[in-house]
Amino acid sequence: MVDPQNRTLTTKQSVIQFSNTMSHTKKIIVFAGPSGVGKSTLANMLIHHSDKCEFSVSATTRPIRLGEQHGQNYYFFSKDEFQSRIENGDFLEWEEVYPGVLYGTLQSEVARITSLGKIAIFDIDVLGAINIKEQFGDEAHLIFVKPESMKALEERLRQRGTDSEEQIQARIARFEKELGYEDKFDQVIVNETGRIDAAKEQVLIIANTYCS
Ligand code: 5GP
Repeated sequence: MVDPQNRTLTTKQSVIQFSNTMSHTKKIIVFAGPSGVGKSTLANMLIHHSDKCEFSVSATTRPIRLGEQHGQNYYFFSKDEFQSRIENGDFLEWEEVYPGVLYGTLQSEVARITSLGKIAIFDIDVLGAINIKEQFGDEAHLIFVKPESMKALEERLRQRGTDSEEQIQARIARFEKELGYEDKFDQVIVNETGRIDAAKEQVLIIANTYCS
C-alpha cells in the first residue's frame, strides 16, 4: 500500500511508489469520491485507454435520467426487484447512497468481466469501495477522487445542474463524512477544476501499471 501519510503524490512520486510497492495483478480498480468530482470521467479515460479494462455497470433504484440507458449506465431496478436481489445474494456490495435510493454491484457483472480476463472498473461510493477492499484485499486498487476544496465541489455540482439546492447540501455533507475514510484508500487523486490533464496523467500511470 502507498504510504498513508503521503498518498496524494506528484506524478513522478507515483511512478516510483507504484513500481516499488504494488502487486500488478488487480481484478478490480475502484474510483470513489463525491458526486460531481469527475470520477466517472477518470474511469472512462481508463477504459478508453485500455482494452483490458471494462466498466462494471451497477444497479440502482433511482429514476433513469435523460440520455441514460438500462444496462449501459445502470441496471435500473424497482425497489422490489432490488430488495429481492439483496435477499438472493446477488450483490457483491450495496449501499443506500441517498435516503431511500439504493445502489449496488452485481456479482454477475464482475464475474462476467473477470471471466474475460479483464479488470472491472467501478465508479461507486466510498463505503461501497471499502466493502470491496475488505472482500478483495490486494486484488482491488482503491482510488479516492477528491476536489481541491469544498467550495470547488459545490460550484461543480451547481454547474452540473442535476441537483436541487437541498440535494447539493446533502452531497456536500456526505463528502465531509467521506473524507474521514481517505486513509483506507490505496491512492488519492485530486481532480482540480481546469487541471484535468494532471488527473489524466495519474490515470495513465494506473493504466500502464495494471492494465497493459
Ligand atoms: P448517480 O446517481 O449520480 O449516478 O450516483 C450517485 C452515487 O452512487 C455516486 O457516488 C456513485 O459513485 C454511487 N454508486 C453508483 N453505483 C454504485 C454501486 O454499485 N455501489 C455503491 N456503493 N455506490 C454506487
